[in-house]
Amino acid sequence: MSDTFYPVPECLIEVGSTFEGWCPVRNVPVFCLLVPLLAPRGHTFHLDLGSTEKVPATDSCIRVELECTCGREQEMSMLCFLHTSAKQLKRQCPSLLHSLCTNSYLDAEKTARCFRELIKNAWKCMHVSEFTMEIDTVKSRRSCRLHVRDLNKRIFYVEFVFGVQQDDTDIFLSSHEIVFRHTPSTAWPQSCVVAEKKFFQYIANHAQGGNFYLRYLQLCAYLMAGLKFTIYDLKTVIMHLLTTIPLERWHGKDFLLRMDDILNYLHCCVEEKRLDHFIIGNDMMPEEIILLQEFRASPPLNMFQHILNSGVARRKLSLLNMCCRNASGFLTNCNVHSPDSTLLKKSSRDPVLTLALPLLAELWPNKCRAAA
Ligand SMILES: [Zn+2]
Repeated sequence: MSDTFYPVPECLIEVGSTFEGWCPVRNVPVFCLLVPLLAPRGHTFHLDLGSTEKVPATDSCIRVELECTCGREQEMSMLCFLHTSAKQLKRQCPSLLHSLCTNSYLDAEKTARCFRELIKNAWKCMHVSEFTMEIDTVKSRRSCRLHVRDLNKRIFYVEFVFGVQQDDTDIFLSSHEIVFRHTPSTAWPQSCVVAEKKFFQYIANHAQGGNFYLRYLQLCAYLMAGLKFTIYDLKTVIMHLLTTIPLERWHGKDFLLRMDDILNYLHCCVEEKRLDHFIIGNDMMPEEIILLQEFRASPPLNMFQHILNSGVARRKLSLLNMCCRNASGFLTNCNVHSPDSTLLKKSSRDPVLTLALPLLAELWPNKCRAAA
């Protein structure tokens, strides 16, 4: 690959809920990795953010330009693409403009296709016997999604999404697919996944108990399995509350109060048909998260725009009320000082409770051992 002019991958960034251990119950785990890409030698990337000033930009593109490398042929192991005759250039691999671009813009579909081939070849060379792997080409037009099965026939996915960092910020132009509409192959929408990951790292560094917030995310994901809320909605609610409730009030005896806060916050959001995006237009964002000025200055983005239709809001509210009732019963029975052993026995018949049991065992180890 060293003689090609494909984008250069940097260290992978683990993103998404599976790596943090709170992927939704009943879903096949998807381990999502963001692959930051750099321009290859002799090329530069220019980020075009599109005509509108809306953030996040969804029609942003990555324009590729060639740069003069005359006089540096030895050092860069290449001929200058701009000032070498076409006949001589046949001796080296085509430029990125002629391999993975469409009209001078980096093409996310061609990039994904190229990496799929590279991964397929790399897998063959690795001689892995504990796992079988197939590349899912249906669901990975703009990414590279591997369907992996281990010797015990457990299945999981590994998904590589590509991204180019915007200046030195925590915002990337990424190859992720925009939900609900077709994404052109040369569009690279702005993504906040790295900024969100850095926010959780910031919380872990500033709180006792490090990644304590994962317990809340895990329990919420269990309690709301099958309801019409996305994992991203839950994560957004918890991120907002982590900046408004002092971090020392998230531990021990306050656990049930905070669970109550999370469910109430979500309930209010559905009633008001408004859940603000956490990164965009949020003036509570710690300075350590490096954002573009327009992200801080933008008006908040309503993630519940789609439920302004009152029929959808009513259905969501009724599901949420049901969930709150179940959760409230569940949490009341799990009194911090004396979890109800009947409930723990009952869990053997209830798939959601069964999945929640390891979490409860971690919270109340003595009681859970006794009930088991
Ligand atoms: Zn030149």
